[in-house]
Amino acid sequence: MATTRRTAASKRNGVFISVDMEGMAGIVHLQQVMRGMPEYERSCRLMTAETNAAVAGARRAGATRIVVNDSHGDMRNFLLDELDEGVEIITGADKPYSMGAGLDPTFQVAFFVGYHASVGRERAIMDHTYGGRTVYALRINGRDQSEATLNAALAGSFGVRTALITGDQATIARRRSAGRRLARSTRSRPAAGSRRGPIAPMASRPGDRCISRRGPSCSRSTG
Ligand SMILES: [Zn+2]
Repeated sequence: MATTRRTAASKRNGVFISVDMEGMAGIVHLQQVMRGMPEYERSCRLMTAETNAAVAGARRAGATRIVVNDSHGDMRNFLLDELDEGVEIITGADKPYSMGAGLDPTFQVAFFVGYHASVGRERAIMDHTYGGRTVYALRINGRDQSEATLNAALAGSFGVRTALITGDQATIARRRSAGRRLARSTRSRPAAGSRRGPIAPMASRPGDRCISRRGPSCSRSTG
């Protein structure tokens, strides 16, 4: 009985956050997301800051357990000493479910932060789906899938609703067209006259505003 109560309490307040890098505000080029390149360290800082903003929003919406999963590249991008001290961290690669590692039925909602469009999408930032050299397109029942839709489906298979997706304009537009009731935050969009252009990172961190303003409505969103 006690176990049942604990599980119910955990599910009511648990938030799972999967964090990619290409869809972060301020990130627009491959050289920014590859370890060893000059701008990579700065991207890790942006990724960590946006994760903290999402965590803060989740907490203000009532989350008491928050798990964050590093979901980009070798999955060791978080600046661990700058990450919110109150979260559980999943870092490193070769883990079951990869970007969805850590998901289980105990969470109430999932956030997908810094995500990007699937390969071939117009008005996208670094469009690809998992391994760009080996996967060109991935469809389920004839419908094109992105990393965001695949992981939202994985969450759904555990009974966990997707409450927030942030990423490039194409990612957000797709979710909007699907008619889902969930919080979204566009992190970057191609600028007129140039191929790509970000939204200023400090002006557009996710979660803080879009989650907390919604408060409990997060929990009613679907993914
Ligand atoms: Zn990535």
